[in-house]
Amino acid sequence: MQTRRDFLQKLTATAFSIPMLSSAAPGVFAQTKGLIPNDKMLRVAIMGLGSYANRVADAMKDCKRAKITGVISGTPSKITDWQARFNIPAKNCYNYENFDAIKDNPDIDAVYIITPNALHHPQALRVAAAGKHVICEKPMSINAQEGREMIEACKKAGVHLLIGYRMHFEANTLEIVRMRREGELGTIRFFQGLSGFKIGDPTQWRLNRELAGGGAMMDIGIYAINGARYMVGEEPIWVTAQEVKTDPVKFREGVDETITFQLGFPSGAIASCLSTYNMNYLDKFYLNGDKGFAEMQPSTGYGPIRSWTHKGRLDLPHVTHQTTQMDEMAAMILDGKKAIIPVDGEEGWKDMVIIDAIFESIRTGQKAEIKYV
Ligand code: NAD
Repeated sequence: MQTRRDFLQKLTATAFSIPMLSSAAPGVFAQTKGLIPNDKMLRVAIMGLGSYANRVADAMKDCKRAKITGVISGTPSKITDWQARFNIPAKNCYNYENFDAIKDNPDIDAVYIITPNALHHPQALRVAAAGKHVICEKPMSINAQEGREMIEACKKAGVHLLIGYRMHFEANTLEIVRMRREGELGTIRFFQGLSGFKIGDPTQWRLNRELAGGGAMMDIGIYAINGARYMVGEEPIWVTAQEVKTDPVKFREGVDETITFQLGFPSGAIASCLSTYNMNYLDKFYLNGDKGFAEMQPSTGYGPIRSWTHKGRLDLPHVTHQTTQMDEMAAMILDGKKAIIPVDGEEGWKDMVIIDAIFESIRTGQKAEIKYV
């Protein structure tokens, strides 16, 4: 049986392993061979230089396999600032009008899209058409149809599509998933996921339906959805959902404030989840099986993640999530490594299918079937 130490060693060791090009998906490397850097580093351009992009960029200073070599931004002063901070030459700087020219730039292997949600789809299609790998923040798009188009575009271009699910590389999360997979929790019966925070500035894009694609669900509720899937280890087949709005001025039509939802899984396991922009202290997962339980609080914040099970505390050492994420993604793109919990386009798309079904259930007041087609 795999021990916790083996599991974690495997995770970290492979991030720094020698690239094995022969193990990579053949289509990808056949078409992007010229992009593979000699020095085994993934060279990334960041698109959208806002608050999360700054967090990612700071975390990437400690990466062993990935580095920032370019930027795409509509704000010239931010470009100048990033050039100085990350030593980026002017020839690797683009704006939203001219970034298709990145196709001719041999210094850039991948573009990490960190812009408002509704922009991910059109931007990912352009990055794929430029022949660069796409790393895209969550939610991958604002509905399943757009997510599917992104997957198809990347497939056609022979480039990877990875979604920024940083928790899929986090040690506490992976240990609980290992325990569940190896039967230490027994048959899984129930998951609870609580995800929310009280949102501030009413003028921000997160409260603008056109840019956000919705409200709390797209932004923070997605953590409970995604967590339900990797903690239970199944794909839900039905959902019921209820929406509550206490402030219709701040949370306009199409911008959800608070949604509770219940998911049903093929085994009979169920999940009960909350997504909100109107309550603080909500970042908690609880997984119940017939031989034990696992609990995490905080469960998806930037860390340290706190966790315990029926066997005692875990609280595995904190590593900046985005550092591990980017090293692991580099290993996937450059070496063909597989993630323990997938972060590919299909993984992002399943969350979008579930979000579509949640909105359908709210609209109809009925249980909605979740169909992955
Ligand atoms: P932000 O507002 O801080 O940054 C967004 C950036 O996009 C800004 O630099 C802005 O100038 C730029 N932008 C480009 N076109 C724009 C337009 N038309 N309107 C508004 N801004 C435009 O937001 P953020 O918090 O960095 O979030 C960006 C993305 O990252 C979102 O999709 C969000 O869900 C995701 N995110 C993920 C995590 C995570 O932990 N994985 C955390 C925070 C944000």
